[in-house]
Amino acid sequence: MRYISTRGQAPALTFEEAMLTGLARDGGLYVPEVIPTLTSDQIAALHGKSYEETAFAVMRPFIGETFTDDEFRQIIARAYAGFNHGARAPMVQLAPGHFLLELFHGPTLAFKDFAMQLIGQMFQAALARRGDRVTIVGATSGDTGSAAIEAFRGLSNVDVFILYPHGRVSDVQRRQMTTPSESNVHALAVDGDFDDCQARLKDMFNDFEFRDGVKLAGVNSINWGRVLAQVVYYFSAAVSLGAPAREVSFTVPTGNFGDIFAGYIAKRMGLPIRDLIVATNQNDILDRCLKGQGYHKTSVHPSISPSMDIQVSSNFERALFDAYGRDGNAVGQLMAELGQGGFDVSQGAMQALQAIYRSGRASEEETSATIATARETMGELLCPHSAVGVKVAQEQRDMAVPMVTLATAHPAKFPDAVEAATGVRPDLPPHMADLFDRPERFTRIDNDLDALKKHIKENLSA
Ligand SMILES: *Cc1c(COP(=O)(O)O)cnc(C)c1O
Repeated sequence: MRYISTRGQAPALTFEEAMLTGLARDGGLYVPEVIPTLTSDQIAALHGKSYEETAFAVMRPFIGETFTDDEFRQIIARAYAGFNHGARAPMVQLAPGHFLLELFHGPTLAFKDFAMQLIGQMFQAALARRGDRVTIVGATSGDTGSAAIEAFRGLSNVDVFILYPHGRVSDVQRRQMTTPSESNVHALAVDGDFDDCQARLKDMFNDFEFRDGVKLAGVNSINWGRVLAQVVYYFSAAVSLGAPAREVSFTVPTGNFGDIFAGYIAKRMGLPIRDLIVATNQNDILDRCLKGQGYHKTSVHPSISPSMDIQVSSNFERALFDAYGRDGNAVGQLMAELGQGGFDVSQGAMQALQAIYRSGRASEEETSATIATARETMGELLCPHSAVGVKVAQEQRDMAVPMVTLATAHPAKFPDAVEAATGVRPDLPPHMADLFDRPERFTRIDNDLDALKKHIKENLSA
């Protein structure tokens, strides 16, 4: 199993290399050369299996020789042992035929834990075997950073630096990043927005002297290992609703397009997914693009679902790569145009995208109203991101096919928005009850590549 870059100019890599690298050296993203498939019988055999067993069956074909079966089983077991629910990704029913997939029972209360906990275990196993170390730098709109810190804190062969937009993450998100006391954890509050953080991160990866000097590794949602981990819960959910005998649709609150792209991979692997619906907040560049209006950046408008406040949706490049018939030059051209503000999608590529993805958006008012009605009529407290998904799913669902909306975070991670909509302030779960008593530690830093590089070089511990 080999991985190729969406821009066609970087060498093909093994799973291990692609995972440890993150971004390809030509600026592209790694994707499998061939997407493996599971037969109907293999999917049917997942009925009644644990989440961990499903994870092994779904991911094993992608990892090649990187781990033995035994090693990989142990990695999966350790990754999900810290979750607070035996099903790992349980579902609740919201309405006839409409289900909520709760992806927030991990240690930092957002779906990012599914991928990050697994990546942490895979990095540790691979680095120990190589006798190597890495510097992980990540950019976050809030949840990736806390999940990465939780997954890598205290590991001896890793330093983890997280760039987050100063003043634009929730108090719970910030405290999850600034309160761990391990010396290999470095929280950096950048004076800018999330797209600035993500742009500086890309700059660091494109500075090969720095990249090689500190052994830079990326765990942002562009890391193929993360996308892969997210494929699993599409299988576990669909199988529990009757797949492969029955089709299932999914609605996914989206920012960086990683989570929904994992759904596309599940579909390509043979899971009978009918509709894949992209749900955006008022930062609706993906919704506009999928409706045929091109991909043109505007400014980010901060919302009550901050983890989706984004204009440059990194993983969308992977979707474009397939939509353009895997033409790396065409993708490179689009990304160069994006640097100048945006691009239009060709007619053929647009048809390919629309054959797979549908989309919708929720305004701030609609998001709050959905949080309120879900509480009143379904007895369910939704985080604002999940509410964006539920609103779009209700609008667009085909009543003949069960719909699963992904609940991407626990309501207690965004208590102000939930309280404003419902009057109820959600409590943090017991393992985090003292979060607001722990001391914080972070460095405020300019939105400046040189300042960031200097800070990172001077603060390596490993
Ligand atoms: C990261 C995140 C999203 C968006 O996920 P993508 O994979 O970037 O599309 C949605 N909701 C929450 C709570 C998140 O943390």
